[in-house]
Amino acid sequence: MRRRAFLLLTPALLLARPALAAPAATAAPGGVARLRLGSAEPAPRAHLDGRRLLVRREKKEWIALAGVPLSAQAGSTLKVEVQLGNGRQELRPVKVVRKTYLTQHLSVAPEQAELPAEQVARYQQEREHLTQVLRTFSETGPESLELLQPVPGRRSGSFGLRRIINGQARSPHSGLDIAAPEGTPIAAAAAGRVADSGDYLFLGRTLVLDHGQGMLTLYAHLSAIDTAPGESVAAGAPIGKVGMTGRVTGPHLHFSVYLNAVSVDPAIFLPSETG
Ligand SMILES: [Zn+2]
Repeated sequence: MRRRAFLLLTPALLLARPALAAPAATAAPGGVARLRLGSAEPAPRAHLDGRRLLVRREKKEWIALAGVPLSAQAGSTLKVEVQLGNGRQELRPVKVVRKTYLTQHLSVAPEQAELPAEQVARYQQEREHLTQVLRTFSETGPESLELLQPVPGRRSGSFGLRRIINGQARSPHSGLDIAAPEGTPIAAAAAGRVADSGDYLFLGRTLVLDHGQGMLTLYAHLSAIDTAPGESVAAGAPIGKVGMTGRVTGPHLHFSVYLNAVSVDPAIFLPSETG
């Protein structure tokens, strides 16, 4: 299978992989663009679509990482606004490269495809709330960009999957799913602070961790939440348990990673799958 062949080819490239260097950082939809911003102090700032970007020091150089929206068109140019430490402003073009995600066509009974009228207001309210949460920007950035896989198990690889239900396109899948038995403990993918917890219509019981500089992780469909907003958690600390709350067909963890309020492929940050 194609996926297997790809995995066999990559370990050599991953041996001495500096965090998010090429080929991991790719300016594809759902990917991460990496911009070099020189070494001058103080730290530069960068924005895309009005959202501040993660900027970190790698050796002597400042690096900005921009999450590229899944909705970005291949061949289009994103304009990253950079304010360098010396006060100079620059517009840095980032060309979006092509990446094709799978499309799934589903036919369901019409009443299942539509949100009941009494749930529409709740859904919109939740969406607005989560949009605000995912725009959280804390100054202190993550120590490392490498994340731990929150639960053991095979990753579905379904990030970016485009679902077309009864001929209508839905928003693409914004995370990856890991199937695991109900009650499996979930580990924090990195050290952070709990930015939000709630019980949402589609996501069920959900936790969001803030890792700083606009990097957040989201854990959905939990059966239990074992931490509370405002608390600090260490990397690997138990934060909740796998469940099947919200709109799901079986127990699994839905895991998302956000940069500049854009969902990016979590696989970019996770150790390569072995075995
Ligand atoms: Zn999912």
